[in-house]
Amino acid sequence: MQIKDKVQFCATCGNVAEAEECRICLDPRRDTALICVVEQSQDVAAIERTREFRGRYHVLGGAINPIGGVGPEDLRIAELLRRLADGSVTEVIIATDPNLEGEATATYLSRLMKDMGVSISRLASGLPVGGDLEYADEVTLGRAFEGRRLVQRASQPS
Ligand SMILES: [Zn+2]
Repeated sequence: MQIKDKVQFCATCGNVAEAEECRICLDPRRDTALICVVEQSQDVAAIERTREFRGRYHVLGGAINPIGGVGPEDLRIAELLRRLADGSVTEVIIATDPNLEGEATATYLSRLMKDMGVSISRLASGLPVGGDLEYADEVTLGRAFEGRRLVQRASQPS
């Protein structure tokens, strides 16, 4: 079995990839000003099925879970901040799972990105609470995307 050796992760977003970068990061038609933050690659697949999102992704590799021993340093958060550093990203949509860990992660990220000049939004409620994003049906997830609420507007440089 060689399958395990063939799994690669995108150097930019952390999604599963067939090359150094994933198909989404390599697609010039995707909006580079928008980043949707998710926990797992499966969430990328779920959101792609809704066709609501034309930006790019950032896969954290999990969620903050103090009981399970997962801290912010275990997730691809530093990589996310690096992507925001050049100012080309204007909105970050946080699409972590609608459960305790997902909420904690979203709150942590919102605080961290507060002064980075990006608008931060969260998916609208309506997703089954306590569930996994990847299991939400397309219509529900699509609506949650469309109705996403702004948590914080980018501070305008004066
Ligand atoms: Zn990628």
